[in-house]
Amino acid sequence: MSIDELAALSRYYGSNPGYVIAGGGNTSFKDESTLWIKGSGVSLGDISSGDFVRMNRKKLAAVWEKRYPQDAAEREAAVLADMLAAREGGGEARRPSVETLLHDLLPFPWVVHLHPALVNGLTCAKGGREAAGRLFGPVIWIDSENPGYVLSLRVKEALEQCGFSAPGNPAPGSLVFLQNHGVFAAAHTPDGIRSLYGKIMDTIGSAAGEGPDFSDAVHEYASSARAAKVLAECAGAAGEGGTYQVLFVRNRAVSGLVADRAAFFPVSSAFTPDHIVYAGSDPLFVDDPPPGKAVEDHIREAWKRHLAEFGRAPKIAALSKTGVFGIGVSEKAARLALELFLDAVKVAAYTKPFGGPLFMKADKIAFINGWEAERYRSQRSGS
Ligand SMILES: [Zn+2]
Repeated sequence: MSIDELAALSRYYGSNPGYVIAGGGNTSFKDESTLWIKGSGVSLGDISSGDFVRMNRKKLAAVWEKRYPQDAAEREAAVLADMLAAREGGGEARRPSVETLLHDLLPFPWVVHLHPALVNGLTCAKGGREAAGRLFGPVIWIDSENPGYVLSLRVKEALEQCGFSAPGNPAPGSLVFLQNHGVFAAAHTPDGIRSLYGKIMDTIGSAAGEGPDFSDAVHEYASSARAAKVLAECAGAAGEGGTYQVLFVRNRAVSGLVADRAAFFPVSSAFTPDHIVYAGSDPLFVDDPPPGKAVEDHIREAWKRHLAEFGRAPKIAALSKTGVFGIGVSEKAARLALELFLDAVKVAAYTKPFGGPLFMKADKIAFINGWEAERYRSQRSGS
């Protein structure tokens, strides 16, 4: 194995928008003593061999012998310090992926972890667990959990429970579905990974049916420009000042969702950590203004109420019967907010045959909103 092969496999998935948007996901290869893992903040689509971090597996395994603080922030900081100390031989300038421990646990050399919208149609659905069992047989399913140490611990427990890590037990499966997050596929070869992902996408694809209709896309028109200006002002006043960029989108699927507040429900909260990082956890929905009221004033008041309710500015604003705006400190940030919103539109549509959308719980959303590592990542990507 050369790290070039790992980089090529990563780019293969990273450059396919059906698998990866906003560079999300991570990949690894391991032998007996070393794990090579994608560095945090690097996009899978343009990763090269120098972007992988070399980790000492003995030191990673030692994490499980330690006791960490109960407090989530203190614990994640302590685990992160141990992970940084487990780096070796080049790549020390990079921070290893937050899911490094989980990669290390899976009993296969090649691991590719992704968050495709199609897969999240299953993991973010009310009946996701049952559907996963029905479609894929005895795979591991992990209920919604905070990324990092605790998620890895849940996977470790699940592996032990089904005897994956027992000596002499040939690992019978290599799929781990993470509720409200994505999927891990692990195999003995890169071809094994490719055939697993082929099977995952085909199987869920034929069960999920057609995705949302993104045709007739519009990115600007007169009244959207007026609303965008007001939203940029509101965001500037709520943030540290400076100028905010606002981008607009409407297509057939979005038109249906912004018909009224009830229609917007399937995308009204967060499906996965990635959605929160780039598009925020609580989109603003602005109802129709009462007769005679200027839409600008109506938006300003709705923004104020939203700030009071959630304590943070939205990155997505939906205007009834108009469309959806992505708001960010840069054009890139605004575009990423819209991209992740549209991804959520797909996820919501794909959940339909599996029991409908299941959002992250409030405590899990709060964890991501305050999460130091995610903040680091979103800074690195300029959002
Ligand atoms: Zn992930």
